[in-house]
Amino acid sequence: MSNPHPSTERTFVIVKPDGVQRGLIGEVIKRYENVGLKLVGIKMMVAEPGHIEQHYTLDPNWRTVTGEKTIESYKKKGLTPPSEDPLEITAVILANLKTYMTAGPIVCMVWQGAHAVKIIRKITGGTEPLTSDVGTIRGDYVLDSYQMSDTDNRAVRNVIHASGSPEEADMEIKHWFKPSELVDYRLVNEQIMYDANLDGILD
Ligand code: ADP
Ligand code: MG
Repeated sequence: MSNPHPSTERTFVIVKPDGVQRGLIGEVIKRYENVGLKLVGIKMMVAEPGHIEQHYTLDPNWRTVTGEKTIESYKKKGLTPPSEDPLEITAVILANLKTYMTAGPIVCMVWQGAHAVKIIRKITGGTEPLTSDVGTIRGDYVLDSYQMSDTDNRAVRNVIHASGSPEEADMEIKHWFKPSELVDYRLVNEQIMYDANLDGILD
């Protein structure tokens, strides 16, 4: 069997409570639409803490990877991390994420298009707003840091969640959406982006 065409890839996005409160729902949608991606599912809700914990632990490696990423980021800045144990760090992050992600309404979305996962992560920017690139959503609209969120014992506020890999996206889409809530349809501009011969334009 041949691999699925890259244009069928889907990814999962949340506009987090701070993003909704900052009035950034439209800006986030606009940036993903501008690049050519297609919105195939969207809903607003207030999430349950248990649903948030399951979401972040769908990937069994998340605790280790996120803990290690945090330690590395502290050391890169010449700072001492809150602990040398990645799992100790993520236990605190997870507790704080449940408070953060259930503090207000969130907007859940599924986006589809070529390399949707990587393209959305690129536009969204790195996890810590202090070091996210200028031009990305997290780089342009938030100024939080691990140092400040640890001082205040809370999760880093970075406006968006976006799946980190196609495997993570598959699990997260199933966790948040019923199949009937996703819409299969064609966008007229997909012909210009994906048609191999770009024919059908001239009379
Ligand atoms: P991403 O959202 O970029 O995929 P992670 O999956 O590593 O990042 O972490 C999930 C979320 O947990 C982040 O978006 C952020 O809100 C929060 N977070 C991650 N690391 C830390 C940290 N060291 N301190 C506080 N909050 C954190
Ligand atoms: Mg992640």
